[in-house]
Amino acid sequence: MARLALITGGTRGIGAAVAQRLDADGLRVAVTYHGNETAAQDFAAHHPIPVYKWDVTDFDACRSGIERIEAELGQGVDVLVNNAGITRDAVLHKMSVAQWREVVDDDLGACFNMCRNLIHGMRERGWGRIVNISSINALKGQFGQTNYAAAKAGVIGFTKALALESARKGITVNAIAPGYVATDMVHAMDPQVLAGIVAQIPVGRLGEPDEIAHAVSFLVDERSGYLTGATLSINGGQYMA
Ligand code: NDP
Repeated sequence: MARLALITGGTRGIGAAVAQRLDADGLRVAVTYHGNETAAQDFAAHHPIPVYKWDVTDFDACRSGIERIEAELGQGVDVLVNNAGITRDAVLHKMSVAQWREVVDDDLGACFNMCRNLIHGMRERGWGRIVNISSINALKGQFGQTNYAAAKAGVIGFTKALALESARKGITVNAIAPGYVATDMVHAMDPQVLAGIVAQIPVGRLGEPDEIAHAVSFLVDERSGYLTGATLSINGGQYMA
């Protein structure tokens, strides 16, 4: 039976590209979303991939959502892509407690909520692939993003620690740190700020969601079992850590 992959935030942006790529690779795929019904309906109309809705910041919702997927699809989740994320930008001296907590809960807390509820099954079956989507801004910092940079840097530490804990169980855990990729998240930025950022990217353009999906496909491949605890930068040369 084909491996089952679950992608959080998989109905648009990078997550949707990952879902389509893993589907094309021959995996069974399920995706989740949170509140954008238009994107979810559009995705469901164009792809034969089951779509589930829950808030990944809610631990119990993650547990029951995963149980439902495994029951409906008749197998355990073998591949998890923790992709869901948000930004709530503000300089620290103006950042609200809500802006801090929402980003830490969504971009970092969700990795715990999802992995904690899936890791037992992967350990029992002796195989798993986890890919956590971090960010270039975890590595280099970014003005107005103390919350996001901290959460995404936390994702990298989480990835390394879980990779160590999981190595003997056939489970790899890796992170991807994308640079600026052409999705809603980036198109929501001030156009002038975005133009200034693109001017600093050696490749001279934004990344495409497919280019991140290509790396996920590589990391979750059967042959990538010796690759764990890594953070793969895909940023057009913008930051070389
Ligand atoms: P988008 O804003 O385009 O999509 C985000 C996805 O995450 C949506 O599907 C959204 O669901 C989902 N999501 C957000 N919060 C929750 C939640 N609490 N519960 C469930 N689902 C949730 O983002 P991108 O595709 O641009 O980004 C994907 C990932 O890549 C994120 O982690 C982001 O931080 C990271 N990243 C993106 C970069 C970029 O340049 N685009 C650069 C570096 C990292 P819904 O559609 O329902 O809102």
